[in-house]
Amino acid sequence: MTTPEHTLVGILGGFSIGLHTRFGWTAIAFAAIISNVPDLDGLPILIDMQGFEVGHRVWGHNLLAIAVSTLLIAAFQYRFHWIERCAEKLKPVLPKDSQELERTGATRPGFLSLCLIGVAFQCVHLICDMTVSGGHGLSDWLVRPFWPFEDSGFVFPLIPWGDVGPTVIMMLAVIGIAKFGNASRIAIFALTLLCIYMLCRGYARRAW
Ligand SMILES: [Zn+2]
Repeated sequence: MTTPEHTLVGILGGFSIGLHTRFGWTAIAFAAIISNVPDLDGLPILIDMQGFEVGHRVWGHNLLAIAVSTLLIAAFQYRFHWIERCAEKLKPVLPKDSQELERTGATRPGFLSLCLIGVAFQCVHLICDMTVSGGHGLSDWLVRPFWPFEDSGFVFPLIPWGDVGPTVIMMLAVIGIAKFGNASRIAIFALTLLCIYMLCRGYARRAW
């Protein structure tokens, strides 16, 4: 999946399990951000292509990296509240109700909650990458969740990388939430629809 798609999965996944009502908007932002962390292993592309080809979908796309990065990022958020600090700086361009943590009755997520959110959404990232893969001349890209202890790779390609369907479904859901509320219901509906879409596309891909 692409960065916008992983971000949307984090947002809608967070809404679907009610993170916003329990912990407020920071938990949704945390889920959206941490959903992209495995793809940091693609940064070597800024230096050289060889490092990218060796490391992308390997160095960050495994359970060890997920555990370590989640501990670090969760500890940083728990100790320094970096999401709120960034939001404070962005306040002039953010919607007014995004700051109303107290009014919603939500409480800040604790360290353990942040860790659980981080691990869960990074694991979802791996599943997304296994199921959105290949196509348009690209070969399927194995994800190696047990690296560096075990080199086995997994891929279950349902739709090709870059398929516009997931973005359309999830963007419509986010717009719907912004306009009508009912965040949890719309998010659950959209993610269910996304799964059905992917399964149907995967079935058609194999049949043809
Ligand atoms: Zn990835």
